[in-house]
Amino acid sequence: PGVQGLSPYQPGKPIEELEREYGVTGAIKLASNENPLGPSPRALAAARAALADIHRYPDGNGFVLKSALARKHGIAPECITLGNGSNDILEFLARAFVLPENEVIFSEHAFAVYPIVTRAVDAKAVVIPAKNWGHDLAAMRAAVNARTRLVFIANPNNPTGTWLKADELEAFIGAMPAHVLVAVDEAYFEYVEEREYPNTIGWTAKYPNLVTARTFSKAYGLAGLRVGYGVSSPAVADVLNRVRQPFNVNSVALAAATAALEDTAHVARAVQTNRDGMGQLIEAFTELGLEYIPSAGNFICVDFKRPAAAMYEALLRQGVIVRPIANYGMPNHLRITVGLPEENRRFIEALRKIVRDR
Ligand code: PMP
Repeated sequence: PGVQGLSPYQPGKPIEELEREYGVTGAIKLASNENPLGPSPRALAAARAALADIHRYPDGNGFVLKSALARKHGIAPECITLGNGSNDILEFLARAFVLPENEVIFSEHAFAVYPIVTRAVDAKAVVIPAKNWGHDLAAMRAAVNARTRLVFIANPNNPTGTWLKADELEAFIGAMPAHVLVAVDEAYFEYVEEREYPNTIGWTAKYPNLVTARTFSKAYGLAGLRVGYGVSSPAVADVLNRVRQPFNVNSVALAAATAALEDTAHVARAVQTNRDGMGQLIEAFTELGLEYIPSAGNFICVDFKRPAAAMYEALLRQGVIVRPIANYGMPNHLRITVGLPEENRRFIEALRKIVRDR
């Protein structure tokens, strides 16, 4: 019954589909919060080298990648669960810990995979109204009861870009009863430059019911290879690893992710590109009198104050793919991924034309 009530995840429109449907060429896509720089050249070289061994199964325990992650984060490898993207980790949490009689709490306008993994195990999704487009932690805390098993928190949140400060988030985690797991989804961690933004991996030793999810899909530029990971107490990681498919992360992805971790300069370049691009977009929104939600991620939501579907269509006709987010309960907004300077410029030019003509 839960599955029948599900709406499928709606990915961004592929460039090829747009070009065929609308007869445009040279389209650009600012719709899936990818890294416009691509991956580190070191990650690419490692991926290419790994092709020599694709007749072998990957290391099902991801020994090398886990060792590198453990070193980077100052944790034991036993605290890590590797996923086929961090979505895999979110799904393991629901599959391993949540029964149909349980409740899973998350915020309105939060990441679309939370309702999917919750309803897929037939549990009840408890959706808490957002506060200023972000998580209302007090209301989320008040919703916890004996049936609650899992709380998802995206920090920063996709699609709104809102973020939670260390003190408020830690107070929330500390207040959770022992039967409730808190999954803090930090897919955009590397992009956040706010001083009070927490690294919750550092808290997992202290809170046995905390799981932090991270990914190589965003700042590391490896979305197509699908690698993410969870960090938790060894006891929780042991449970998550039991529901994991034996070879869920492929060998090319393992090699690329391990090499990507070492290239901190590439991540720094991605963050700088994002900072500059975000400035470019905000300047344009301000000039055009468009309201936006300040974002800590590599994307930003702009408010058209009327259904944005027509705006989305008009942008498509000019060869620019962005993301409609009506399915997130935000029909008047579009979410724009920060691109390269030239891509941002093309988007802004298209937007300016449409806004002026309307
Ligand atoms: N969490 C959030 C908040 C996201 O926005 C995304 C990507 N859209 C993910 C998790 C999943 O990313 P991946 O599975 O590629 O690691």
